[in-house]
Amino acid sequence: MNFSPGAKFIMVPDYHIHTPLCRHAEGNPAEFKTQARRLGIPEIAFTDHVPNPDGYDPRCRMSMEEWPTYRNLILDQQTVEPPQVLFGVEADYYEGCERFLRPSLSNQPLDLVIGSIHYLGTWGFDNPEERQVWDTVDVTGAWQKYFELLGRFAESRLIDVIGHLDLPKKFGYRPPEHAIRDMAHPALDRIAQAGLAIEINTSGLRKPVREIYPSAMLLALARERDIPICFGSDAHKPEEVGDRFEESLKLAREAGYTQAVRFSAHQKTVYPLP
Ligand code: ZN
Ligand code: FE
Ligand code: FE
Ligand code: ZN
Repeated sequence: MNFSPGAKFIMVPDYHIHTPLCRHAEGNPAEFKTQARRLGIPEIAFTDHVPNPDGYDPRCRMSMEEWPTYRNLILDQQTVEPPQVLFGVEADYYEGCERFLRPSLSNQPLDLVIGSIHYLGTWGFDNPEERQVWDTVDVTGAWQKYFELLGRFAESRLIDVIGHLDLPKKFGYRPPEHAIRDMAHPALDRIAQAGLAIEINTSGLRKPVREIYPSAMLLALARERDIPICFGSDAHKPEEVGDRFEESLKLAREAGYTQAVRFSAHQKTVYPLP
């Protein structure tokens, strides 16, 4: 991996990029890659939403039959042309998913798996179409349930990185910071114990909350536990690649981080922050 010192700002790898196979992204993988090269990003990972054989959330992901299409689409981008391209997925956690996720993921030559939670039971809590449900639930209780699921996912040994750690804040519904701190503690302990990394994800800046995931407070708690970090834009279109990574780097440094991690075949290596 070569950092490009000529760029206007020294970029780090972008490890959270989608493709149109998920039915809610646009642009082909070559265009995402071109955008990354333009920005001087040394390495990217495509991490499209993993398909589920049990009819879970089919609107937002490829079908099981499309696994080979996805794999070939990404492996085709692994050329001598920079940036380097990693093969990843974003997997969702819900009750019972381990059964098929384990064989499904181990069958693929993956570099990294981001583990995310987008559902509490049948409620897609980050789906704009289900946003109004937030007005009818106990907000603190919902966050509590979220962190409990996250802790369970961390211990599943299915994933490498926790995606958008405080996603429930997306629409601005959140308990006071001290309450979030208390409920995040055990989840972060389990994440640290499992040896997982977390991502600093800038997509929150493009959402109503207008904040990076995770908050500075949660990132400080992660730092205390030596939880490694990586960076992601959660790009669903080419122009979102590397979106406002300078803000992510600033947040990471302010939390006391001096290094981040890269992945290859699920193995982490450390690099110093530019
Ligand atoms: Zn998506
Ligand atoms: Fe996600
Ligand atoms: Fe994503
Ligand atoms: Zn995501």
